Amino acid sequence: MSRQITGAVIEELNAPFKLETLEVDDQPKAHEVLVHIVASGICHSDEAVRNGSAGEYPYPGVVGHEGAGIVEKVGDQVTTVKEGDHVILSYDYDGTCRHCLTGHPSSCVNWAKLNMEGVCPDGSVAFTREDGSPIHNFFNQSSFTTETLVQERNVTVIDKTIDLRKVGPLGCGFVTGSGTVFNGLNPKEGTTIAIVGTGAVGSAALMAAKIKAAQRLFALIFMTHVWKWPRNLVQRIRLIVSTKIGSTRSTKSQMARVSTLPSIQPVFQLLCIKPLLPLLPAATWPQSQLPRRHWNSCHGMRLPLCKSTLTVS
Ligand SMILES: [Zn+2]
Ligand SMILES: [Zn+2]
Repeated sequence: MSRQITGAVIEELNAPFKLETLEVDDQPKAHEVLVHIVASGICHSDEAVRNGSAGEYPYPGVVGHEGAGIVEKVGDQVTTVKEGDHVILSYDYDGTCRHCLTGHPSSCVNWAKLNMEGVCPDGSVAFTREDGSPIHNFFNQSSFTTETLVQERNVTVIDKTIDLRKVGPLGCGFVTGSGTVFNGLNPKEGTTIAIVGTGAVGSAALMAAKIKAAQRLFALIFMTHVWKWPRNLVQRIRLIVSTKIGSTRSTKSQMARVSTLPSIQPVFQLLCIKPLLPLLPAATWPQSQLPRRHWNSCHGMRLPLCKSTLTVS
């Protein structure tokens, strides 16, 4: 038996998101959980699937991988979550490989297969149209839906007093930013860190750096993809928020004098999502010292992040 839901479908490469009525199994299989999605973050990776920069994807499909919601039903083998629990959704992993068994599920040897191939772990398709044609999933999650079927491994139970509208990015952006600082940069006390971009990843990195007692934190606000009229407002809000959560100096990237940072601290660390790197004003960054590409699988998602320790003489 199936139930009707609404999902934001990407029909083909570069097609817009389009709301459609879809069908999903109403009865979860043994290890599955049916979740009513209350809210979802929007990650760069979702747009990267739509425009093809994330690599091959079996369109049509529904993306979204920062879901937060309420459990409606669970399969008969599910033990860690029950009907009515509030949950956040993250990526899938097999739980049995050498990386999973040593506490590194983001490095699972089956990570790409389970999260990027658009089908459930048993090879079935999560959603169908009313005519029976298949619609693929993403991260075994597809949070751009009203209800979705995921594995027990995809969900983490959270306290019911927490506002579900605010915690979706814990499934990707927040673990990516914080994991990169805690496990990747692992800054020593007193380190100076410049963080480019203050979305979910950058904000989490900022908070993690403050927890690690980094002494000077620079948040550079980058908003090139926002339409002109709200841009100034969003920039202003981000400047205020980044200062509130730990930045010792926040500035718009267009006004940043990154080259002046070494004069304050001869060695500093940079954290930047790779797509933002070419947008930094060229004059502010010596080409020979461009940070190398780094795949962050420290704790969170496999986003192409750049991290580097620069020494400027
Ligand atoms: Zn993401
Ligand atoms: Zn694994």
